[in-house]
Amino acid sequence: MSTTTPDPLAAVESVRVYAIPMRTRFRGITVREGMLLRGPAGWGEFCPFDDYADSGSVPWLEAAVEQCTGHWPTPVRDRIPVNCTVPAVGPDAAHEIVTKSGCRTAKVKVADRPGSLGEDQARVEAVRSALGRDGAIRVDANAAWDVETAVRHIRVLDRSAGGLEYVEQPCRTLSELAQVRRRVDVRIAADESIRRAEDPLRVAVAEAADVAVLKCLPLGGVHRALRVAEACGLPCVVSSALETTVGLAAEVALAAALPELPFACGLGTLSLLDGDVVPPSAALRQVDGFVSVPDTRPEPDPALLDAHAPADPVVAARWLARLSRVSALLQER
Ligand SMILES: [Mg+2]
Repeated sequence: MSTTTPDPLAAVESVRVYAIPMRTRFRGITVREGMLLRGPAGWGEFCPFDDYADSGSVPWLEAAVEQCTGHWPTPVRDRIPVNCTVPAVGPDAAHEIVTKSGCRTAKVKVADRPGSLGEDQARVEAVRSALGRDGAIRVDANAAWDVETAVRHIRVLDRSAGGLEYVEQPCRTLSELAQVRRRVDVRIAADESIRRAEDPLRVAVAEAADVAVLKCLPLGGVHRALRVAEACGLPCVVSSALETTVGLAAEVALAAALPELPFACGLGTLSLLDGDVVPPSAALRQVDGFVSVPDTRPEPDPALLDAHAPADPVVAARWLARLSRVSALLQER
């Protein structure tokens, strides 16, 4: 009897590559690249960052295939509270980003480079002055600190911010997070520890964190991310992976389906991209701190797909080759 695994791309009817400039350098990138896959249920987005190897990109492809062939769970809310995101910019720019956003929660990037504490303090102070007393400030260190540095910097930044809602991924490992968590009064959120875990369904974050950050594209899709949420047993925040509206729709579907959503989500990220693939009326843009849960799947505009196709054919060839390698890996599983 044949045991051949079906081709994961069998249902995919067409693919498009996009390259959209970022408005501000973020996560070290200035142009967001990825692919859109069209299937029977609509469009899916395959956009692992460059630092994901082919094996780590497999869940991204599973998520894209789920989007274009599967269904979303039933939403339990019709809008998602979101935070604005403040990159490692100066205090004036930080103040302006927060004020313009209309969001009541700000996520502030810190620890962008060694010796940045003074700048980090000035940034969170500016964010507090823009938000007022009742806004919430969280910081994300992207695993940049060791335990001692984390403890010291978190205490300083907590004072500068007039109270932090939580600090996201201060250190790299779960055991470091647990050590930091025992020594500071601020909640710890785990992001990379879950997303980059060997098996996100089995990672024991409960000792090491108070909050779990979930991104359904790196986790293999909406349904898998819901299982991770259940397995980790922590309050969850859904955050984007800097997708276009196509991939963002999956993250919004996850946030809409979670039974509890006690914190604002990181889904107001479309403004970081200088362009999108759907018309502005369908874009999943935040308004006054909320993203509405759409009734329909996103449908890219052919003219926008053309406009955002990479100018250099080498870029498209690189993505097509990546898709074929990652789908071969997925098929082998
Ligand atoms: Mg993070």
